[in-house]
Parts: sequence; structure tokens; C-alpha cells
Amino acid sequence: MKKVLMIISVVIIVAIIVTGAYLNRNETCEEKFFAFNTLISVKVTGNDAKNAVDALGKEATRLDKLLNAHSSQSEVSMINTAAADGYLDISEEVYLLIKRCIQYSQNTEGAFDITVKPLVDLWDIGGKNHIPDESELNKALKAVSYENIDLSQKNKVHFTHPDTRIDLGAVAKGYAADRMKEILSGFDIDYALIDLGGNIYAYGEREYRVGIQHPDKERGEHFKVISAKNASVVTSGAYERGFERDGVYYHHILSPFDGKCADSGIKSVTVVGEVSEMCDAYSTAVYVKGKSLADKLQENNPGVSFVIMEDDGTQYETK
Ligand code: AMP
Ligand code: MG
Repeated sequence: MKKVLMIISVVIIVAIIVTGAYLNRNETCEEKFFAFNTLISVKVTGNDAKNAVDALGKEATRLDKLLNAHSSQSEVSMINTAAADGYLDISEEVYLLIKRCIQYSQNTEGAFDITVKPLVDLWDIGGKNHIPDESELNKALKAVSYENIDLSQKNKVHFTHPDTRIDLGAVAKGYAADRMKEILSGFDIDYALIDLGGNIYAYGEREYRVGIQHPDKERGEHFKVISAKNASVVTSGAYERGFERDGVYYHHILSPFDGKCADSGIKSVTVVGEVSEMCDAYSTAVYVKGKSLADKLQENNPGVSFVIMEDDGTQYETK
């Protein structure tokens, strides 16, 4: 009799532990990892949060290997080494991404252009911090045009100018956010916040409040807070990376038209929309061209909106 009672007690205890574990599955899991030369942080809540976070980490590493122009092993670096010599076989994923980038160039009247790489190398912002003269700029500019990218053969790329090179820095984090969102949709989770160094994706059934960095103030000081649900919030600003010399500030967003640091009268531009890649491309483009381009892009993409801080501190928002 004693033995039977003991067995029943053990069964009850095990049942309580199993039920408790099941009910407690709804957890929040937070992790940080380094990719795209940025600290990425993800915070996921839901039954399968841990597995989802692990999958996000793997995806960030995979995309870094694919798109990071600074790493000699990446597919983008391989393209930059060989695509000027003839048609080069590339993955379908990168082929389609470059194709969409060309579309963004067309939509932004050339302000967004992944072929700025020769200019990026020339200025070497954060490295040598070189201020090029007009002849250096003109030489580099000859190779800069999205029209020098030939994608006429499926899953192949060819640069039609010998010095053309690409840099996906203005769109890679946006693309990564979209991929991560896709991955989250395969897991049993409720909501998540993905932060790729200021490039945010708010996923799931929760309204997140996302602060927009004030361009002139300490990191973390916001001039506006926006609500985001199943949306991306992407900001471009000169303050993110640059250097000062003789009282002049030089920075990393370059004009494909004259090769100089973009100066269109704005300090920062934030784009809110469903597709992070598009927000990322358009934030860079509007920084280059100014607020009139924001109005045009908003008209053609009603789901996308722009918050701009102008040089004089005025805030401007598209409808
Ligand atoms: P973002 O911070 O998204 O505006 O991207 C800026 C990064 O994209 C720079 O660090 C460059 O690597 C690259 N870039 C600079 N100017 C342009 C441009 N006009 N079009 C596309 N990429 C650019
Ligand atoms: Mg961008």
C-alpha cells in the first residue's frame, strides 16, 4: 500500500512539473550579436523565443558572410573582384537584391546608388579620412552609376565599366531585418524587437515605441517617439559616422552626383514602413536629395512615411 501511494505521489509531482513547464513556455529571450560591423540586439517573446533567437543569430552571421564588403570572403567582395572582367555567376539571393537596388536607384533619381563604392574607398571615412580633390572625385565618379551594372543574364552580374564596384552598406541592414522578420514568422512567438544598430523592426502583436535619435544630442536622446507595429523604422544621418577637419564636418553619406558628402539641408531622415530594405534605401536617398524627394516617394508608396530634421532644427513630416 505504501509503495502504491509513493508511486501515485511521484506521478502527481511529475505531472505538476510537466504542466508547469508547459504553462511557463511563454518566455522572453534577449540576445546581442555582432554582424554588419554593428551590434545587433534581438528581444523575442513567445513560446518558442529561445529557438527563434538562435535562428536569428545564425541568419545574421549568414548574411554578414554574403553582403559585408569589408570581408574579403563575402559574395559582394567576390563580385567586386571579378564582375568587371565578364559575366560572373552569383547566388539568386544577391542577384535579386542587386536588381531591387537598381529599382531603388531609378525611384530615387539616382540618389541611392550602390556603385558609390569607389567614392566610399576614396574618402575612407573612419579609416584614412581623406579629403579628395576635384580630379580624384572626377576619376572615381566615372565608374559610379547603377547603369554600369548589367544583370541581363539570370543570376549573373557584369560591370560594364572597369572600375565599377558595389557597396550594399545603405541597404544591407534593412535587408537583414526583412530576412529576420521572415524567420520569426516560422516560430511560435508573440512579438519581437530587432535592432540592427538603429535600424529597427517591430514584429508581432505589440505596439512598440521607437525613439528617433536627436542628431545633435547624446546617443539615446530622442527628438520624437513613434509607434511601430509590424513596421520598420530606419534613420540616416551624417552624425552616425564622420570626422571634422578645419571646422568642417565630413561624413559617410555621399552624393553620387558630385562625389562629395551629401548636403541637402537636412540633419537626419527617418523612414517608417513595412519593408525595411526599402526604408533603408530611401533613408539614404532622401538624405542625399532632401525633403522634396521624401514627398515624391511618399506619394508613390502610401505605406511609407518620413520624419526629417532640417539643418535649422525644424521637424518635417510627410503625410
Ligand atoms: P545609411 O546609413 O543607410 O544611410 O548608409 C550609408 C552607407 O551606405 C555608407 O556608409 C556607404 O557605405 C553607403 N553609401 C553612401 N552614400 C550612398 C549612396 N548615395 N547610395 C548608396 N549607398 C551609399
Ligand atoms: Mg540606408
